[in-house]
Amino acid sequence: MNDTYDALGMSLNDWQILFAEWGEQKFRASQVCQWIYAKKEFAFDGMTNLSKSLREKLGGNIVMGFPVMIRQQVSKDGTRKFLWQLNDGAMIESVLLNHGGHKTACISSQAGCPLKCAFCETGANGFRRNLTRGEITGQFLMMEKVNGTDINNIVFMGMGEPLLNEDNVLAVIRSLNDKNMRNLGARHITISTSGIAPGIEDLADFEIPIRLSLSLHAPNDELRARLMPVNKQYPLQKLIASLRRYRERTGERITFEYALIDGVNDSPELAYETAALLDGLEPYINIIPFNPIPSRPDFKRSSPGRVRAFTEALSAMKIEFELRKERGGDIMAACGQLAGSV
Ligand code: SAH
Ligand code: SF4
Repeated sequence: MNDTYDALGMSLNDWQILFAEWGEQKFRASQVCQWIYAKKEFAFDGMTNLSKSLREKLGGNIVMGFPVMIRQQVSKDGTRKFLWQLNDGAMIESVLLNHGGHKTACISSQAGCPLKCAFCETGANGFRRNLTRGEITGQFLMMEKVNGTDINNIVFMGMGEPLLNEDNVLAVIRSLNDKNMRNLGARHITISTSGIAPGIEDLADFEIPIRLSLSLHAPNDELRARLMPVNKQYPLQKLIASLRRYRERTGERITFEYALIDGVNDSPELAYETAALLDGLEPYINIIPFNPIPSRPDFKRSSPGRVRAFTEALSAMKIEFELRKERGGDIMAACGQLAGSV
């Protein structure tokens, strides 16, 4: 779909240019954005402060590129998983997490993922294409509409690698952050990346101070490349250099994701190696329970004893971390389990 004619892919500036071409007043642009992003009115005909002729012109020229919601599942812990169909038939998923009243949307940026991390079901199922701006924004806005509430946070931790669809992801973030559009605070937006070093360099210069999360999972090239083939393209030295630059330019603290897989990456020695690797970066580490996936029955979650030994080693090295709880595992909505299949 051509983003130019997809309402959900248009910035405020795009709307202003369009309305100038149509001989309409400039403030109409923010009116339309208010309808879509604040009032969740997704039919031009319902935008009642616009003239009937303008509504008809919009309806005839601009589409709303929402993915079609196929299914919503609710987990025992209140996590919701949404299955969407795109206009070419591709399927994607998003997750809505609810932590003590705070709602977080976990959004997909690609249909599938080309990076094939050994522990991730999305990667195991192959790659179809990048999502359009409308398909990304649409997941978020439609979840807000369906749930009838504002969602407080957006994390790009669904299907796909956001920094391989960087232009669209950053454009969506600009729109969601724009005061005249969704007005979502920069601190409430997180990109999670497997380590696309040039994309991290770009984020170091990005004008909106969003949060960055780095999927580490192993502290040396040999093991990391086995788990995450992307490490061959951007080995740790290169990756850490880009993270240092990001940290220097933005002053932001980076969160590192580390899923403990039994006997694979969970020894105390690897915890010490992780501490040494991240020295000087003031890391904050999220220790995530590995979520079992059908394609790798040999990968198991670490036992509580091994988790304790790993985290004790981190504590000994004065590394800050948090032990994450699994959420949505009963409906395959936990990290790494999104597959987009019906
Ligand atoms: N492609 C991006 C964002 C999507 S993956 C990235 O890799 O960062 C979101 C998070 O889930 C990443 O931290 C990823 O490493 C993690 N993850 C993937 N598979 C997992 C699994 N089976 N168990 C736990 N975490 C997993
Ligand atoms: Fe892609 Fe992230 Fe899954 Fe790796 S963990 S295959 S980068 S979605």
